[in-house]
This record gives sequence, structure tokens and C-alpha cells, in this order.
Amino acid sequence: MKILVAVKRVIDYSVRVRLKPDRTGVVTEGVKMSINPFDEIALEEALRIRERGEATEVVVVSVGSAEVQTQLRSALAMGADRAIHVETGEALEPLWVAHILHALVGEIGPGLVILGKQAIDDDLGQTGPMLAALWGRPQATFVSKLTLEGSSARAVREVDHGLETLDFDLPAVVTTDLRLNTPRFIKMPDIMKARQKPLETRPLDAFGLDLPRLAIERLEPPPERAAGIRVETVAELVTRLHERGAV
Ligand code: AMP
Repeated sequence: MKILVAVKRVIDYSVRVRLKPDRTGVVTEGVKMSINPFDEIALEEALRIRERGEATEVVVVSVGSAEVQTQLRSALAMGADRAIHVETGEALEPLWVAHILHALVGEIGPGLVILGKQAIDDDLGQTGPMLAALWGRPQATFVSKLTLEGSSARAVREVDHGLETLDFDLPAVVTTDLRLNTPRFIKMPDIMKARQKPLETRPLDAFGLDLPRLAIERLEPPPERAAGIRVETVAELVTRLHERGAV
């Protein structure tokens, strides 16, 4: 069985994101970029499945500019077998990425496609479910435990009211939640080895897609939080809450 893992390049989670002065987007120049944290978890899970002998190949794919190759090389250093870079200068919406992944699924024939539950830049959480719909295969989203048995799988999902266990047939789409695993650190020799691993680039045009695009008109920063106050007594607290109309 092959596993396809979708890896998005995003602003590192530790960076304080700033809007561009014209508010059409966020500043990315000179900003630390990383693999989306949920995609690292997706890759770690795929590697563990391969290491248990339940998969033969882990293929990583990223859609974006030439710079995504840095993240694909990191994914290869983590242990992926090969990488596919779908090159486009534009930041594409989930429907585009889902169509691209669907085309690659048709070509590669994976038993599992693992994605992050969401990319931490736009927090959309749409690509996995859209891929499952296009492919007509089962999906398990927000997964915190995954076990495979032959041609079926069991996933524990993190849902609002607790945990949900789902049994489904492969091939399928899985999206990862934070508690699924802790991704491994990349070791120096693996970075060297990753340079020899195959990384193939394909132009977006090769996918022949003609889909609607969304235009972002303007971004607004969240309102500044007002400074808090200290109160000495419960009576004062109640008075303050009354003054603010909170009770
Ligand atoms: P989203 O629906 O944008 O929140 O993204 C959910 C997941 O889809 C991400 O965690 C990635 O696994 C995958 N994904 C989204 N955009 C891309 C991209 N440009 N390249 C590769 N994978 C992507």
C-alpha cells in the first residue's frame, strides 16, 4: 500500500503574523516558514505505518511556489520516499488543492491519503473532506488514533462531545489532530540523504483545471484587547461587572 501525504508551507506557528500595509495579505518576506504542524503529524503517521510494514511507500506532495521545495526536502529528510511539487505562483484555495490531489490519487493509487485537519494560515479545514467527496471514498477527520487491519481502518476522532470511533474501508482520506503523534526530529545525516531522494516538479497547467477563484478584498486585524483591571474585593468586582453591563 502507498500513502500520499499533503504538506503545506505556512508561516511558522511561533511567528507573530503581521498584515501588509495595504491589508491585502500578510507579510511573508523574511518570515520563518515551516511545514504546517498538522501535516508533520500526517507524515509522522504515514512513516510509522510504513515502519510497521503496513505500507510500502510514502509520497509527499505540496502545491505552491518554488519555495515549497524547502519543506518537501524536510519531509524527505523526515523519511518520505519521494516528493511531488505542483508549481504555482498563486495561493490556491482548498478546492484546487483537492482536485490536484485527486488527480495524483488517480495516478499513484494510494490506500490512504493523510492531510492535516487544517492549515494554520487560513484555518479552513476543507481540503481533506473535499478530496474524499471528489474521490467518492470514506473520510475520517480530526483523527487522534489510527489502526489499520488489511483493507479496513479504525480511527478515533476528536469531536465536540468527546471521542468518536469510526470503522471504514480503505482507500480513504484521514485528517490529523494534534494528539495523533509527536513528529520525529530530523537528524543531520537524514538531511544529506534527502538530497538524493526524488523530488519531481509539475506545472499547475498540467492538471488542466478551470475552477473559480476567490478574491481577498481586504484583511482586518483583530480588535486590540483593552487592558485588564485589578479589584480588591468581591463587592468591587460585582460593582465593576454591573458598570460594564456584564451581569
Ligand atoms: P485547509 O483545508 O487549507 O485548512 O488544509 C487542510 C490540509 O490540506 C493541510 O493540512 C494540508 O495537508 C492540505 N493542503 C492544503 N493546502 C495545501 C497545499 N497548498 N499543498 C499541499 N497540501 C495542502
